[in-house]
Amino acid sequence: MGTTPPPKPFNLAIIGGGISGLTLAIALHARNIPTTVYESAASFGEIGAGVGFQPNFVRTMALIAPGIKEGFLRCSDNGESEPPKWFDVRIGDTRNADSGGFVREKDGRGIRLGDAIFTIPARPGPGGGVHRAHFLDELIRLLPGGIAQFRKRLVGVTEGGGGDAVLHFADGTTARHTAVIGCDGIKSRTREIVLGRDEARPLFSGKYAYRAILPMQKALEFLDDREATTPQMYCGYKRHVLTFPIANGTIFNRRTFVCLVAFSSRAEWTDPEWVVKTSREDMLADYADWTEKVKSIMANVKNPDIWALYNHAPARTFYQTRPRVCLLGDAAHASTPHQGSGAGMCIEDCYVLGELLGEISGADELEKAFRAYDAVRRPRALKLVETSRQAGMLWELEGPEGDDLDAFEKNAVTRMAWIWDHEIEQDLERARELLRA
Ligand SMILES: Cc1cc2nc3c(=O)[nH]c(=O)nc-3n(C[C@H](O)[C@H](O)[C@H](O)COP(=O)(O)OP(=O)(O)OC[C@H]3O[C@@H](n4cnc5c(N)ncnc54)[C@H](O)[C@@H]3O)c2cc1C
Repeated sequence: MGTTPPPKPFNLAIIGGGISGLTLAIALHARNIPTTVYESAASFGEIGAGVGFQPNFVRTMALIAPGIKEGFLRCSDNGESEPPKWFDVRIGDTRNADSGGFVREKDGRGIRLGDAIFTIPARPGPGGGVHRAHFLDELIRLLPGGIAQFRKRLVGVTEGGGGDAVLHFADGTTARHTAVIGCDGIKSRTREIVLGRDEARPLFSGKYAYRAILPMQKALEFLDDREATTPQMYCGYKRHVLTFPIANGTIFNRRTFVCLVAFSSRAEWTDPEWVVKTSREDMLADYADWTEKVKSIMANVKNPDIWALYNHAPARTFYQTRPRVCLLGDAAHASTPHQGSGAGMCIEDCYVLGELLGEISGADELEKAFRAYDAVRRPRALKLVETSRQAGMLWELEGPEGDDLDAFEKNAVTRMAWIWDHEIEQDLERARELLRA
């Protein structure tokens, strides 16, 4: 058993109780840093179905606190395959096939519409999909009681002297803390405070996604075992569809659902809501040119939602000092999901910032810790945002490769290496050097 360090002589406010806010709260609690989480909703909760983590991100969870990885494993689909794979890639758009139904010739063999044209290998180790709400429940279990306050929508932050922050909430109350860590997601108020309203504004990415789940038993009626129980990507013009298994929240319920995320394109998004209800019929109409197999997945989901996909322009900084506010997770660098790593980057942020904050001994060192965190995390997180945008175009045959499937494969099987093979402990070491400098 490790000994508990003495409490730090400063106290932090975390704004937002999503994956970022709760993971950071666990990291800070382990380092005995007095912390309060302010969440605008009446309780913790996640909307949407699945979220996937690759093995490097699961390893980072364990570096923050072993319980996070254990919680992840309890509710994940335990999706290790041999050899490890990210997705089988298939063409689902009938317009891509020739009159004989072929989409590609590889190694002297014709590959048909709907068949795997190649596989994107993953890295070994535990990873895979979890139901968002179940993973959040696992994080909540690791938090001490009373750390969170609900129905606290942050509306402003003013300086309370010495760089301290006075938080102003929509209910008229205030709270004073040495610093604020903004984990309030893509529509972040703390981001507006640090960067100004114009620079903080999320930008529509030109893509939206239908999201739904269907029971595994149902999926197995029209998909073969490999297609239903392992991650699949079906590509086409200006659209692509992902399916992957998720568990039902307990170790005994592996792979009980198939999660469907079907992406499509439009020039602008005018609805003030970013998540709207839609119908199976509308989704099927959007995919009128696609294979019967993809359409049968869609025909079997209930209550699909549409999610408008926004992302952030690159932030020139992740923090300010008077008053002290530091951005983390989607508040700092919201990305499109086309490389499935936005939440993974949140975990990495929490690891680096949590460790740095654990090392300092007073409020006067907070600025140095934020500066070191910013220097190490900003380049990597912003690279994810940009390369995810490019990946969305690759998967939808509208990147520089177009529908040249040889060039597509070359790009697809190599582009994730910088994300997955990253040594986060080396980042921390660099940040520590900056902190000491
Ligand atoms: C379709 C889709 C699929 C994705 N798939 C993946 C994937 O497979 N793998 C992956 O790694 N990532 C994925 N992502 C990205 C991932 O979901 C996000 O990066 C991650 O959930 C962000 O977490 P967060 O805690 O930073 O923000 P959020 O989850 O947005 O949490 C913000 C919290 O702050 C609260 N809040 C907001 N404003 C205030 C305020 N003013 N005051 C108080 N509280 C406030 C909110 O209520 C919320 O609880 C996907 C994203 C999308 C859209």
